Order: sequence, then structure tokens, then C-alpha cells
Amino acid sequence: MTLWEENAAYNKTYPQLDTKIDTDVVIIGGGFTGISSSYHLQERGVNSVVLEEHTIGWGASGRNGGMLNTGYKLSPAELIKKFGLEEAKKLDQYALDSNEAVRAIAEKHQIDCEVRQCGHLGLSRKASKAKDFAKSQELIQKHFNREVHVLTGNAIQEELNSDYFKSAYLDPLSYQFHPLNYVRGLAEVAYENGARIFENSKALHIQKEGTTFIVKTAKGEVHAKELIYATDGYSGKITKELHKGIFPLASFVIATQPLDERFVKELIPNNRNLYDTINLTNYFRRTPDNRIIFGGSGIGYPAKPKFKEELIMLLTSAFPQLKGTRIDYFWGGIIGATVDKFPVIGRTSDGAYYSVGYTGHGAAQSTLHGKMLAKCIVQEDRINTVFEETPLRTVPLYQQKKLLVTAANLYFRMMDKLS
Ligand SMILES: Cc1cc2nc3c(=O)[nH]c(=O)nc-3n(C[C@H](O)[C@H](O)[C@H](O)COP(=O)(O)OP(=O)(O)OC[C@H]3O[C@@H](n4cnc5c(N)ncnc54)[C@H](O)[C@@H]3O)c2cc1C
Repeated sequence: MTLWEENAAYNKTYPQLDTKIDTDVVIIGGGFTGISSSYHLQERGVNSVVLEEHTIGWGASGRNGGMLNTGYKLSPAELIKKFGLEEAKKLDQYALDSNEAVRAIAEKHQIDCEVRQCGHLGLSRKASKAKDFAKSQELIQKHFNREVHVLTGNAIQEELNSDYFKSAYLDPLSYQFHPLNYVRGLAEVAYENGARIFENSKALHIQKEGTTFIVKTAKGEVHAKELIYATDGYSGKITKELHKGIFPLASFVIATQPLDERFVKELIPNNRNLYDTINLTNYFRRTPDNRIIFGGSGIGYPAKPKFKEELIMLLTSAFPQLKGTRIDYFWGGIIGATVDKFPVIGRTSDGAYYSVGYTGHGAAQSTLHGKMLAKCIVQEDRINTVFEETPLRTVPLYQQKKLLVTAANLYFRMMDKLS
């Protein structure tokens, strides 16, 4: 059980599909992408059916660190190099808009998900990394027209009661939230607006007859004019085209026992999102009930106890003050990564829509991507983004994906140790 499940404010359940139904759009996957698509379709008077294999938010959406950080997995310099300056500017704004979209939806519908602007700190154990941070700062300030700050020495101690990290940059515009409450709360809004939601209803077979998609589950079937895949890291063999393009990377999280309020405020005084900027990122933050959650990558899934020990070791390396602290929760989930480390909105060869590949950065963007998918379907004007223009490239040797993911993980682990 995750911490988010344990203290969830929304506990509505939805039935299993056991009949044949017709609808405008069938959505496979009940995470942020699927539920946001459904919400934005219903808002436009288009009927949708969501099929979720498990329960709403069961995937990465209900298991993540709840950090709505600005930017992308790619650095500002990488974005500019890959897409050109004008697109990079639009992308930066899109990431800010994603945070704002989550905040505005939560506020409009009073979704109890504790969304708040907190800022984030990218951290490094190397003082020399400050030079790279300064380069990003220069690009962000010059081209994206907003302020970020490079921190060294005592300035880091003002953010973090630890001498583990030697350089950092602070972006004040990031947010944090309770991810499961957000996705479940939004599902309730979509449902009240007419969406039909089915849990324990895995899409087992999909075919297209003429212009109709027919999706079969164990006990029912849905006929629809349009289909959206919102399965990200859990994209299985049912969609070969997506399966070929996604690396499923495992990420794990521990949560400490509730800590004394004064003590936890001393550890992370300004209550930011925090992460180590190495390849296999470790991320951590406070929770509203005064715990510290700490996450990182591990090889394989489901979670193995040794990852818990590894995370505890990393947590207490950063905060020796937490040695001996009880760990109340340990869970894991799957991140969908692409070869380009960048999300893709696209269509399969039979015309179904998809948005996948957030590469560990989708907690905010998936809401806006769901809106983009809804706009694609109703052919509403939308901003042109490279998300729709970037192809979902096939993972090399994708048949050997398990082996490849393990090898990549070991490689990045070694690089992080050497760097
Ligand atoms: C441990 C962890 C920590 C993370 N931390 C952060 C963070 O702090 N910030 C951030 O920005 N991002 C983070 N992420 C990534 C973020 O959670 C994802 O990018 C985002 O949730 C993707 O949402 P989604 O709806 O596209 O996919 P998911 O939430 O993964 O949903 C996909 C759903 O599809 C369902 N499904 C799959 N196949 C079928 C089928 N055949 N039939 C029916 N249903 C099916 C699955 O059951 C699943 O519920 C983290 C991810 C993990 C795993």
C-alpha cells in the first residue's frame, strides 16, 4: 500500500464492465492522461468510456512523488539544440501552463489534493556542477524570460539541513500535490459530467471494423468512434506500436514515519521539491503530515526489499539525522520513457490517439496532454507543439527490452558513480 492510498480523501469505486456499450470515445488507462482526456471530452459534450485494468490511479499517477516540476527531462540547452530556440521557448511555457492547468482544475472543482506552489531544487554532490547550473540559468533567464537561482555554499544550507549536496539551482515556479487525490478527484468530476468509468476492466482485444473501434474486456465490449491509449509505462503487447516505443523503467519510493514538525521543518525549511540531478534521479520532499518521502530508480519490478534498503541508505547519506527513523511505506511503479526522453502525442496506424513517454516528468503535463487529445478529437484549435510532431521511435532491440532496461540501468548507475 502506498502512503497516498492510505490517506486518500477519495474512495469511490467503479464497476467492472459486463455489457456491450456504444460511446464516442473509449479511453484505455485510468491515470492522469486518461482521466484528463475524459474530463476534457465531457466538458466539450463528447461522451467517453474509461477502461482501467485495475483501479483509477493504480499506475504511475497514483504512485508518484507528487512533484509538478517545471521543465523536462531534457535540459534547456538540450531542448534548444533538439527543437530550436522558438520551440524551446514554447515548450518551457507549456510546462508552466501544465502546472497552472492542474492548479486551476483542482481549484475550480475543489479537488482536495493539496496543490501548492513550492519551487524545486535541482541538486548535485559536486561543487563543479554549479557551472552547468549557471549555463541553464543563463538560458532560462535570457530566452524563457524567468528567474532561476544558482546556489552554492551556505545558500544550500538555507534550503536543506545537509552538507551532502555542494551545488544547486532553485526554480521557484514548481508545484506539489497529492497525486492520487488529484486523479481520483478528477475522475469523480468527469463521472459527474457523464463519463462512464470501469475498473478491473482490462482491454484484452482491440479491432477496427470500418470506422468503429471495438474493445473487448473479459465480460463486455465497447464500440466507439475514437480510441485513446493512455497506458504510458504500462503499455502492453495489446498495442504493439506503443509497446515497441516505450522503455518501462521502475521507480521506488519510501516514506518515513511522521516526524516532529519542528524537526522536519529544520530538514527542509522551505518545503521545496528536491532531486539529485544525476542520471538515475533520487527525489524527495516533505508531506503535509510531516513525513519525508524519498524515491529513486531500481532494476526490475515489482519492488524487491533490497531497493528499500538502498533508498534508506541514500536518504540517510543525505540526512544522517534520519538514521534509525522508521520507514512506514515502500512502493514502486513504472515510468514510461522514450528513446528521445520526451513525451509524444500521436496516432497509431489504425487512427487511435495516444499520449505516452513522459519519461518520469508527466505528473503535470499529462493533464494538458489529455486536454490536447480531447482537442484533437473535436478538431478544436490548439497550439502546435512538437509533441505531435515527434515520432515515437522504436526502442532498439525492443524484443530484448527487459535485458536492455537492466543494462541501461546498470550503465547509468556506473556513470553516476564515476561522475
Ligand atoms: C514511483 C514514481 C514516481 C514518479 N514521480 C513523479 C514526480 O514526482 N513528478 C512527475 O512529474 N512525474 C513522476 N512520475 C511519472 C508520472 O507519474 C507519470 O508520468 C504519469 O503518472 C503518467 O500518467 P499516465 O496516466 O499517462 O499513465 P499511468 O498513470 O501509468 O496510467 C496508465 C494506466 O493504464 C492502465 N492500463 C494499461 N494497460 C491497460 C489495458 N490493457 N486495459 C486497461 N487499462 C490498462 C494501467 O493499469 C494504468 O493505471 C513518477 C512515476 C513513478 C512510477
